Amino acid sequence: MKIEILGASGGIGKGLYTTCLRINDHTLIDAGSGLGNLPNEELRKIKRIFLTHAHLDHIAFLPLLIDVCYEFLQKPIEVFALPEVISVLKTHIFNWSVWPDFTVLPNAEHPVLTLHPVTYPHPLASEELTLIPFLVEHVVPCCGWMVEADGVRFAFTGDTTANSSLLNTLNRLGRLDALMIECAFSDRLADLAHLSKHITPKSLFDLYEKMQHPCPLWISHLKPSQTEEITQQLQHYFAESCYTLLHHGMELVLNKASA
Ligand SMILES: [Zn+2]
Ligand SMILES: [Zn+2]
Repeated sequence: MKIEILGASGGIGKGLYTTCLRINDHTLIDAGSGLGNLPNEELRKIKRIFLTHAHLDHIAFLPLLIDVCYEFLQKPIEVFALPEVISVLKTHIFNWSVWPDFTVLPNAEHPVLTLHPVTYPHPLASEELTLIPFLVEHVVPCCGWMVEADGVRFAFTGDTTANSSLLNTLNRLGRLDALMIECAFSDRLADLAHLSKHITPKSLFDLYEKMQHPCPLWISHLKPSQTEEITQQLQHYFAESCYTLLHHGMELVLNKASA
């Protein structure tokens, strides 16, 4: 399984791009500004997108993707997300005011975009990949995704708080080859992290220590203004071998040999 980090930042700025992963060329998880890093011919290979939630840093480039692929699409681009997220996309994005309703273009029988509500924990098989949503707790409805292929599996939590419910969920997922998880705020802003339901280095460490199946952490979503501080705090809590800080342009390969 090939996982390209197109964007993994918690904000924008020169060289920083928000959450978007591409798996095996044709599948995305989230469609933040990192998606704009792909050349047009690569954008046209995308067949389906699995969203964690409807916050702008995770969906901002979805409408623009459909537009740029419009004339090349033989089949619709399929978007899978929680029902609440689908509802936000219909009401607030593809509503003709912000962007055209591509679910009825060029006509309702053969649209270029289809929206599919998912239910936890119903697995979705697409080509060689199987994706399973799992619920996490954020300020809006949000799910993580576990991705399996060729005997390897990784999970991406999306935006989440680190509480006992997340711990139980991760423990239920069983052995993972990697866990991609956010660490948006520094410990100094733990109150804000708590209010906005995000993770800090300390809360991540507390979670990690209690995980029944500890695995390599791929850490994302650092707020640009706190990146240095968060990095130092992560170094304080974790051995270097436990985690990787994600940034756009990284390509991670998981296969049975590497797992
Ligand atoms: Zn969010
Ligand atoms: Zn976010």
